[in-house]
Amino acid sequence: MLQNKIQDVFNEPGCSKNQSKSDKERKKGCTKALQPGGAAGGCAFDGAKIALQPITDVAHLVHGPIACEGNSWDNRGSKSSGSQLYRTGFTTDINELDVVYGGEKHLFKSIKEVLDKYDPSAVFVYQTCVTAMIGDDIESVCKAASQKFAKPIIPVNAPGFVGAKNLGNKLAGEALLDYVIGTEEPEYSTPYDINIIGEYNLSGELWQVKPLLDHLGIRVTCCISGDAKYHDVAQSHRARANMMVCSKSMINIARKMEERYQIPFFEGSFYGISDTTESLREITRLLIQQGAPAELHDRTEALIAREEARAWQRIAEYTHRLRGKRVLLFTGGVKSWSVVSALQEGGMEVVGTSVKKSTREDKERIKEIMGQDAHMLDDLTPREMYKMFQEARADVLLSGGRSQFAALKNKMPWVDINQERHQAYNGYEGMVNLVKQIDLALYNPMWALLRKPAPWDMGEART
Ligand code: SF4
Repeated sequence: MLQNKIQDVFNEPGCSKNQSKSDKERKKGCTKALQPGGAAGGCAFDGAKIALQPITDVAHLVHGPIACEGNSWDNRGSKSSGSQLYRTGFTTDINELDVVYGGEKHLFKSIKEVLDKYDPSAVFVYQTCVTAMIGDDIESVCKAASQKFAKPIIPVNAPGFVGAKNLGNKLAGEALLDYVIGTEEPEYSTPYDINIIGEYNLSGELWQVKPLLDHLGIRVTCCISGDAKYHDVAQSHRARANMMVCSKSMINIARKMEERYQIPFFEGSFYGISDTTESLREITRLLIQQGAPAELHDRTEALIAREEARAWQRIAEYTHRLRGKRVLLFTGGVKSWSVVSALQEGGMEVVGTSVKKSTREDKERIKEIMGQDAHMLDDLTPREMYKMFQEARADVLLSGGRSQFAALKNKMPWVDINQERHQAYNGYEGMVNLVKQIDLALYNPMWALLRKPAPWDMGEART
């Protein structure tokens, strides 16, 4: 059953990259098989947990050895506006006897204990390598527990060994499609209802965009999965349009919701000023197409004009401090180009942007914004990055945590823009914040002290 599901996920018609492959290539999947130790980059279970853990009022119960939960607990800063239950780690912590005799009874008891102590809206049960290999049938246990306790108990069958994080994201989407979405009816719906799919509300980024939608009277009925509540996900099939934020992770949800519930979707992003504008326009277009009053269009345009002007004005306040500063952008996908205009508007020069994880369209956009001789770096090694800073070819690094040392070892500033970041960079407000954070990093007084030679290097006598 799991194999069928994986093949189904690999055969995603909504993914153009997938569709350009031969049947044989498609069967192999999108990522190479994991090597021993590969789980450090995220196994399928980890991917499934990342995708679903932001559902806040659910108990996320990991069926496996305690290390799997330790590996995946709270590894992203998804914020909640209500319940904090999602931040509590639950695991069956199986032992040798479970491995010998099977862990299904243990799992059933753990579900009961979680329900008795926390009364969550639902329990999500995650399969892991060991429990999958000993043959524990989490689907059957969840079904029996659901009937016995009259609560939704949702199996998430994505053991680590089946593949990488991205596959786990999609298998998590399949669990929602099979067991959650469409299982409840909302009290009411409006022509202004949308779902946002693939947005995890990292550092509260969803809340930077929601006020814009609120202002237009557009209701986010459900965000899958940032700041989501179980019942919202269950009722999300009544939205009029879907926006898919991170196409790589949950395209199967958007496409299958279109197939099953006739909800049209588009791929968009809230990173960067022009992308935020485009996304607002596209949401409006889809809602009008689905029956919302046409006056929504004019209100959206008025909001865009006002917010864009405000954002550019605030970014311009930093120009005199940031003019000529050279930025090395080491990230992937849409972020490899969507933040470039804001950086340029802030007076900065982008000396390179990584395109290792970018699509052909992403590369085209980079050329559009930065010109034909844009410095697209295909596979910049940490050593080369280190050299760039040593030779003073860049003033600040924007990247994820893993690359930070290339800058920090050279006593150069670094700004975290990947998933572990503590700052929110979504929408118009987010771009202003990004420019502000770069300014703070560059002008931190710590750098002057740090770069000063030590007294003993200057030949001063020690007292
Ligand atoms: S699910 Fe498997 S690969 Fe993932 S953390 Fe657990 S043991 Fe490691």
